[in-house]
Amino acid sequence: MANNEKNEEGKKKSLNFIEQIIEEDLSKNKNGGRIHTRFPPEPNGFLHIGHAKSICLNFGLAGKYNGKTNLRFDDTNPLKEEQVYIDSIKEDIHWLGFDWEGREYYASDYFERLYEFAEKLIKQGKAFVCEMTPDEIKNSRGTPTEPGKESPYRDRPVEENLDLFRRMKEGEFPEGRYQLRAKIDMSSPNMHLRDPVLYRIRHMAHPRTGDEWCIYPMYDMAHGQCDYIEGITHSLCTMEFEVHRPLYDWLLDHIAEGDYRPRQIEFARLNLGYTVMSKRKLLQLVEDGTVDGWDDPRMPTISGLRRRGYTPASIRDFSERVGIAKRDNIIDMALLENSLREDLNKKAQRVMGVLDPVKVVITNYPENEEEELDAVNNPEDESMGKREVPFSREIFIERNDFMEEPPKKFFRLAPGREVRLRYAYFITCEDVVKDASGEITEIRCTYDPSSRGGQSPDGRKVKGTLHWVSAKHAIPVEVRQYDRLFMTEDPDKVDEERKDFRANLNPDSLHILENCMLEPFIKDAKPEDKFQFERKGYFCVDRYCDPHKKLVFNRTVTLKDTWAKIAKQQKQQPKKQKNKQKNK
Ligand code: ATP
Ligand code: MG
Repeated sequence: MANNEKNEEGKKKSLNFIEQIIEEDLSKNKNGGRIHTRFPPEPNGFLHIGHAKSICLNFGLAGKYNGKTNLRFDDTNPLKEEQVYIDSIKEDIHWLGFDWEGREYYASDYFERLYEFAEKLIKQGKAFVCEMTPDEIKNSRGTPTEPGKESPYRDRPVEENLDLFRRMKEGEFPEGRYQLRAKIDMSSPNMHLRDPVLYRIRHMAHPRTGDEWCIYPMYDMAHGQCDYIEGITHSLCTMEFEVHRPLYDWLLDHIAEGDYRPRQIEFARLNLGYTVMSKRKLLQLVEDGTVDGWDDPRMPTISGLRRRGYTPASIRDFSERVGIAKRDNIIDMALLENSLREDLNKKAQRVMGVLDPVKVVITNYPENEEEELDAVNNPEDESMGKREVPFSREIFIERNDFMEEPPKKFFRLAPGREVRLRYAYFITCEDVVKDASGEITEIRCTYDPSSRGGQSPDGRKVKGTLHWVSAKHAIPVEVRQYDRLFMTEDPDKVDEERKDFRANLNPDSLHILENCMLEPFIKDAKPEDKFQFERKGYFCVDRYCDPHKKLVFNRTVTLKDTWAKIAKQQKQQPKKQKNKQKNK
């Protein structure tokens, strides 16, 4: 029995707090054992990695507990919403690997029901039509420590409220003339309970309901009620809505019939270092041309990550690893990149590609000869097999894999030195040729024919192994190397000197290399195909390039996390000093 208890304890511990709530609800057969979540994006921008977290959470829980997830567009604000956003949101969720099984809903579908709910509140004496202007209402709310002032219209008789509210709906009044407010408590310590506005007049066409409505519900009047209409059991949202929860519950207590209530549960938003996550700010970057659209590969948007070369599996894995919490923090981008590397390492085809080519002539290799050498497609996955890589007298290597005067720890090519060409031969540098400006135009080497396949013929060792591409077989491609979009970990943090978050932009976030050389294997690559360029990193064919003209690759991620290393070194420095003292 003790063991059983322990097992139960262990199980509980490995559940996150939302799963614990759900399992408790299930054990009590709450809502008849139904689990129903929703993902409620406002269609006013593209989804970002934070939304991905929420999508994985909502769809993930439904998956785990045999439940359902609705996609509900929160389109109560007619001002900012556009069809392109709706389309992109659906595409992104599908791409991430989730499906709402046809349950695609819009808050605007429920305008009639919401209106009826409002009338119900009025009839109970729980809502009133206020003539104070929005500004006056704001100024009368008081402060967290001081009670607000009650509206002089608060005790308007029910009949009069109903009449005015109906006339608001009929379009008799200009914007701002009247608002419907809940009648709760102007001295509540929770500001959201101080007679919040529920409906306002907006003479504005709505993308879906057209001119049918000229009054629109506020977020609080819509969200919980939509949850209720859809039969949502667990309504997951981010922490900033915690203070709205009493209002969420208050409204439902006055509107709902029967025992069923959706339950709002909050979790901490995902924040990532070196980027911004607010849709308003991301829109600014798009509009001012800082980036090349919402799906620029530097954007933290799902479509940006996709174009960059991220896989859906890596984003789901990341989301799982960060887990859910109640407290806000900034997650290191390195965590996201690690999930990505792990996935790509397993799946990505290896090829050799030289990003900054310099020519090597192998002087003892016959002029018109060429041969095919075996190369492994993915050392992590034998089933991916092998391919043949052509070799000939002239090849390209990386310019920085050669140094005329190598410092101590440089083990690559240098005058008189022997290195291995991956899958090919040992070569030794005999000479360099330079142009008038002193730039190296050609490195001349000899090869050892008995080292075919890169095997040492006699046990002699070489320290460096270089990637290379046969010059006459090489396919020239463009490579776009991306770096962090911002220079500071928390770009939202601005000060006197940097007044706008854009002052924190990294001016060097994109380097375009026009003339990179890839082995011919790449010639059939299609948009979004992913590769590891050996020693260089993971690269993905840009979605929008025309492979028949020229392949364009986006660098997805480097092989090693150089950023984390730098950060670690910085952090470790003081420790090292301490250790030194200890050692003395
Ligand atoms: P805005 O930035 O315009 O205020 P938003 O980022 O909250 O909006 P919504 O479209 O309202 O965007 O969000 C849809 C859902 O995604 C909501 O449930 C919201 O709580 C969740 N969400 C948004 N940002 C994050 C984030 N950074 N981490 C986790 N969940 C998020
Ligand atoms: Mg929102």
